[in-house]
Amino acid sequence: MLASNRYIVYYRRMHDIPSAIDDINHRIKKAQHHSPDAQAVTLMAVSKNHSVDEIRQAYSCGIRHFGENRAQEGIGKIVQLKELTCQWHFIGPIQANKTQLIAQHFDWIHSVDRLKILQRLNQQRSSLPPLNVCIQVNISNEPQKSGLAASELPELLAATRDLDNLQIRGLMCIPQATTDIDTLNQTFQQMHALYLQNAAPYQLDTLSMGMSQDLEAAVQHGSTMVRVGRAIFG
Ligand SMILES: *Cc1c(COP(=O)(O)O)cnc(C)c1O
Repeated sequence: MLASNRYIVYYRRMHDIPSAIDDINHRIKKAQHHSPDAQAVTLMAVSKNHSVDEIRQAYSCGIRHFGENRAQEGIGKIVQLKELTCQWHFIGPIQANKTQLIAQHFDWIHSVDRLKILQRLNQQRSSLPPLNVCIQVNISNEPQKSGLAASELPELLAATRDLDNLQIRGLMCIPQATTDIDTLNQTFQQMHALYLQNAAPYQLDTLSMGMSQDLEAAVQHGSTMVRVGRAIFG
C-alpha cells in the first residue's frame, strides 16, 4: 500500500499536462514571493507544435492564454477552438505578407520591432477591437536576433501614438542563451528598467519575459507574463 502511494507521488508520465501546469504555477508563485514588485503574473502556454487536444487539456486546467509562432499553424488551431474563451498570442518572427492574417485572428502580438509592421497591423485591424502589442527588444544585442536595440525604443514608441487600432501593452525579450545566472539576472534587470522608464508615459502593463528554463529569474525581475512551452507540453 505504502509502495503504491509512493509510486503515485513520485512517478510522472512524460506528457502529464495537468501536473506540469501545477508545477509551473507553483514555480511562479514561489518566484513572486521573491519579487520586490509582487506583481501579478499571467502564464501563457506556448502551444506551437502541439495539438488542439493538448491545448484543450491545458484549457481545462485553467490556462486562458496560448502562444503560437507560425501564423498558419496558429490560425488553424484558433479556428478549430473557436468555442474556447481564450486569448491567442503571436510570438514568432513576422513576415510582412502575414500581417493581415495575424491582425485578423490573433488577440496579441509580442514580436514586433519595426514601424512598418506596426502600420500594416494597424491598417489591417480596423473593425476589430484593438490588437494588443508588445515590442520586442534585442536586450542582449545579438546580431542574428529579432528585436530593436533599447536605444531605438523611444522613437518607435512615440510613433505608435497615432495607431488607433493597436494597444501598445508592453515589451518582450528573449535573452541570449546562457547558463550564467548573473548574466541572466542582469539582462532581466535591464529589461525591467527599460519597461519602468516607459510604463507610465505609454500606459504599459505587460513585461513579457521568462520561458521554461528561466521563468523564476524573469518573475523576480518584474515579468508580468511568462511564455512556457516545453515545461507544459513536453
Ligand atoms: C517557443 C517559445 C517559447 C517557449 O519556450 P520554452 O523553452 O519551450 O518554454 C517562448 N517564447 C518564444 C518567443 C518562443 O518561440
